[in-house]
Amino acid sequence: MTDVFPVSDEWAKRAYVDDAKYREMYERSVADPEGFWKEHGKRVDWIKPFTTVKNVSYAPGNVSIKWYEDGTLNVSANCIDRHLKDKADKVAIIWEGDEPTDDKKITYRELHEQVCRLANAMKANGVKKGDRVTIYLPMIPEAAYAMLACARIGAVHSVVFGGFSPDALAGRIEDAASTFVITADEGLRGGRKIPLKANTDKAIEKVGGVDKVLVVKRTGGNVGWKDGRDVWYHDAVSAASTDCPPEEISAEDPLFILYTSGSTGKPKGVLHTSGGYLVYASMTHQYVFDYKDGDIYWCTADVGWVTGHSYIVYGPLANGATTLMFEGVPNYPDAARFWKVCDKHQVNTFYTAPTAIRALMGAGEDLVKQTSRKSLRLLGSVGEPINPEAWLWYHRVVGDGRCPIVDTWWQTETGGIMITPLPGATPLKPGSASRPFFGIRPALVDADGKTLEGKAEGNLVILDSWPGQMRTVYGDHERFEQTYFSAYPNTYFTGDGCRRDEDGYYWITGRVDDVINVSGHRMGTAEVESALVAHPKVAEAAVVGYPHDLKGQGIYCYVTLNAGEEPTEALRKELRDWVRQEIGPIASPDLIQWAPGLPKTRSGKIMRRILRKIAENEFSNLGDTSTLADPGVVDDLIENRQNR
Ligand code: ATP
Ligand code: MG
Repeated sequence: MTDVFPVSDEWAKRAYVDDAKYREMYERSVADPEGFWKEHGKRVDWIKPFTTVKNVSYAPGNVSIKWYEDGTLNVSANCIDRHLKDKADKVAIIWEGDEPTDDKKITYRELHEQVCRLANAMKANGVKKGDRVTIYLPMIPEAAYAMLACARIGAVHSVVFGGFSPDALAGRIEDAASTFVITADEGLRGGRKIPLKANTDKAIEKVGGVDKVLVVKRTGGNVGWKDGRDVWYHDAVSAASTDCPPEEISAEDPLFILYTSGSTGKPKGVLHTSGGYLVYASMTHQYVFDYKDGDIYWCTADVGWVTGHSYIVYGPLANGATTLMFEGVPNYPDAARFWKVCDKHQVNTFYTAPTAIRALMGAGEDLVKQTSRKSLRLLGSVGEPINPEAWLWYHRVVGDGRCPIVDTWWQTETGGIMITPLPGATPLKPGSASRPFFGIRPALVDADGKTLEGKAEGNLVILDSWPGQMRTVYGDHERFEQTYFSAYPNTYFTGDGCRRDEDGYYWITGRVDDVINVSGHRMGTAEVESALVAHPKVAEAAVVGYPHDLKGQGIYCYVTLNAGEEPTEALRKELRDWVRQEIGPIASPDLIQWAPGLPKTRSGKIMRRILRKIAENEFSNLGDTSTLADPGVVDDLIENRQNR
C-alpha cells in the first residue's frame, strides 16, 4: 500500500489551482490546445502579436515544430524590462557565494543595467544575432547576465557546466561552431578552485575557431593571456553604455543550445527557440511552484543544466520573481549548508535533486534539525526517480511534514516540467511524478507501439506537442527524428519507462534501455533500487541486467553502504532476502557488488549504461565518458566486479 498525502486545506485555498480547477483546465488544454495556448501565450509580452498558435508535424521524415511562429518578442525584455515599471527595486537575484560570508542582491534595475552593458560589450566585440556564444562560468550572477545579454541581441547561448573538462568544453564549442566564449579566471566550489580560463585555453587550442574570450575576474588567480583574443569582462562592460534596446526576435529564432547530460550516450545539442519556450517555462514555474509575488525561490541546479535555464533564469525572471543562485555545494562548509541558506534568505520554495537528498540523508537528521526551515512552504525534486525512502525523509525531516513535494518529471528536450503534482491540487504518492501538466498528453506503449490503457506499464511517449518542446538537435535534424520520432511514429518518444496506476498517476521506472527482463518478467531498475535504498544500511544502489543462462537476464546490484557499515557475506544475504520480501522472489538480486561510489554524470545522475557494461564484462569500450564526474570510480568497479 502506498501512503497518500492529501492536499491540505491551506494549500487548496492558497494555490492558483485546486483539484477541480486542475481537472477543468487540463480537460480544456487537451480538448482545445489551440485555444488554450492562444490564451496562455498572452502571458508573454510580444512586440508583434502572434496570429497562428501551433504548426506541428510529427510525420516521419518531416518532423517540424513551430509555435506562435509569426509573433516577435525579446526574451530578455520579458525577463527584465517589463518589470521595471513596478518592480525596479525588487530583488531579482539573491546570490549566495561559495563562502557563507559572501552574498549579494541584485535588483531588477541593476540586472537591467548589467545586461545592457554586457550586451553592448558583446556587440562591440563582434557578436551578432544568430552567433553561438559559449558560456563556461561558475554560478555567479554574470552567468545569468550572459544568458540574458545573448537573448537581448539574438545571439544563441550554449552554457557548458563549469565542472566540465577541457575536452568536454572543446566538443561543445566545436559542435556549436561557437566563436565567442565567456568564462572566468577560476571558479570556486566547496573551497576548491577550478581553472576555468586555463581549461578554456586548452579547449580552444584543441578546436580553434574562437575569436574572443571574455574573462570574468572571480578569484584574481593567475591566468594565461592572449592579447587580441582575451578581454577582461570588467573592462569591456565598464566601457559600455547602459542602454541597449532589445532586438526584435521571431518566436522561432533560437534562444539556446544545451547539451543533454549524457546518461545514455553522446550528449545531444538540444535546440530551443524563443517564444514557445518562454511561455512554457514561465507558466510551469508559476503553477508548479505556485509562485506568488514576494516568494523567495531557490533552485539548487547549476545553470549548466536545463533546470538552471528554465527554473533559475528564464521561468522565474519572466515571472518577476526573486531567484536564488548558489555558487557552492551542499556539503561545504558542512552538510547543513542548504538548510542554513534557507534560513538566511528565508527561502519559501526549495527545488533540488534526489542525488543531493540521498547524500544529505546520509549525513543524518541532526544537522537538519539545527536549522529552523520555518520559511519553507514547498519542496521540489528533479533529475531522477526519487526513491520513496528519500521522498519520505525529505518530507518528514526537511519539510517537518508540512511542505508538499513536487516530484517533477521532464527532460532537457521538453524545455519545462511535464508530469508533476500541483501543490494545491494533487494528493501526493511518494515516488510518483503523478499527473500531466496542462497540455501534456502522456501515453504508454508496448514494444510494438500498441497503446496501453488504464493501469499499465510501458514506454512513455507524448502524443502531442507543447510550446516548450525542443525543435531539433543542433546541426543534425536527422538524429532528432531518429532519436525521438522513429521508434513510435507520430508521437514523441521520451526514452523513459513508466507505470500508470489505478488513479492515473505516472511512476517513472527508469530509462527504457535500463529495463531488465528476468525470466520473462520486465522490471524497471528504479523499483529494485528503491527496495535496496530502503534498507537501513544502504546509502545508494544501482541495478542493471547482465546475460544469465537460465533467466535471460540476471539482476546485478551495485550497493553503497552507509558510513561505518561492514560489507559482509551475511549482509549480502540479508539484502537478497530483503528485496525478496519487499518486491518478490522474481526481483531477488543475483549478484551484489559493494561500490564505494557510483559512476555519475556531473549533474549527479547514475550512469547505468557504464554499470551495465561492467556487469556484462564489456568494460573495454565504455562509450562516451566525457560527462562522468569521477572516472576513478569506474576503475574501482571494474577491479572488484563480481564473477558469475
Ligand atoms: P542523456 O539524454 O544525454 O542520456 P539525460 O537523459 O540524463 O541524459 P536530462 O535531460 O538532464 O539528460 O535528464 C532527463 C531524464 O532524467 C529523464 O528522461 C528521466 O530519465 C530523468 N528524470 C528527470 N526528472 C525525473 C523525475 N522527476 N523522475 C524520474 N526521472 C526523472
Ligand atoms: Mg535523456
